[in-house]
Amino acid sequence: MKRLNVASPIIGTNEKNAVQKVLDSGIIAQGPVVAQLEKDFAAYCGTKYAVALNSGTAAIHTALYTLGIGEGDEVITTPFSFIATVNPILMVGASPKFADIKEGDFNIDPKKVESAITKRTKAIIAVDLYGQPYDFEELSRIASMHGIELIEDACQAVGAKYGDKMAGSFGSAGCFSLYATKNIMSGEGGILTTNSEKVVESAKQFRQHGMTGPYEYADLGYNLRMTDILAAIGVEQLKQVDEFNRLRQRNARQLNEGLAGIDGIITPTINKGRTHVFHQYTIRITPDFAVTRERLIEILNEHEIGSGVYYPKALHLYPHIAKLGFSDGDFPVAEKTSQEVLSLPVHPGIEPADIQRIVEVITGAASE
Ligand SMILES: *Cc1c(COP(=O)(O)O)cnc(C)c1O
Repeated sequence: MKRLNVASPIIGTNEKNAVQKVLDSGIIAQGPVVAQLEKDFAAYCGTKYAVALNSGTAAIHTALYTLGIGEGDEVITTPFSFIATVNPILMVGASPKFADIKEGDFNIDPKKVESAITKRTKAIIAVDLYGQPYDFEELSRIASMHGIELIEDACQAVGAKYGDKMAGSFGSAGCFSLYATKNIMSGEGGILTTNSEKVVESAKQFRQHGMTGPYEYADLGYNLRMTDILAAIGVEQLKQVDEFNRLRQRNARQLNEGLAGIDGIITPTINKGRTHVFHQYTIRITPDFAVTRERLIEILNEHEIGSGVYYPKALHLYPHIAKLGFSDGDFPVAEKTSQEVLSLPVHPGIEPADIQRIVEVITGAASE
């Protein structure tokens, strides 16, 4: 029986040929193909600029740095995300603050953001978790009312939309990841999108040691560059993003239909006016379900079906963050959600017959 993994990169002849061409060209570090990827990404997201970096984490770090966020500043973010959403806040020397998520859609709750704002708040990092845009309208209203920056962690959401606006174009800066498991990928990589000339200029310096000319360094920086080898994969992947996302959405629909009405399983919902690109298809297993989440994971495994818990722990409970003054019970929705979530295979390599198999195994477990 074919094992169904929760993620699986799709690499075709076009990617292989593009990499070969770069290898043969002699320019293998940052060069013209990186510039091409930046041009294509900005065009796709509808932003004026895009800057390629070596990871999504680097994109968030660069966004914070170029927006001038640092020591003494507070940044509000969600406690329910990948650790890379919060670590860059610490890397620039600012203090992370959290606002709990909404139960329904896993994204940050604008009302809680509003009450977390203080005189020191300089930015909000909102995540389009699992591929569904956060409440951009509310958060941008709050951000502009208080004169703070809104950074979008769109690492899971390339191609998602809020109304007609593409993910990555919502706030002061959008951050994407091209890590191997994302909707499109280059193995490792990141993209920062923005409409601000100041951000793009500063970002291009920051990724290259603050360099302004040969051995001229105007500011602090680092080596956050992408290579042309990886950019070549990214350029080819971006051409397929809409098709990849369409297949994810088809699979998600079929899972939603198949799992509807099972006691103790809550299937994901899509908010009105938003396009969800299903980086993850994530259900919640509540105590009403026949077996525990851990047992269901075992049963799925016995049937060669992979699954994943994203994320098993709310961010404020990790030691290097908890020591700043957070503890159990601070963000109850995120904490409860982390005990309930389970992501099932939804990527474009999953076919309707595979979904049928997943649904049958879960239905079987429900009557255990
Ligand atoms: C993947 C991811 C990141 C980090 O991207 P890397 O390329 O792995 O550094 C940040 N935030 C979220 C929500 C992610 O899913």
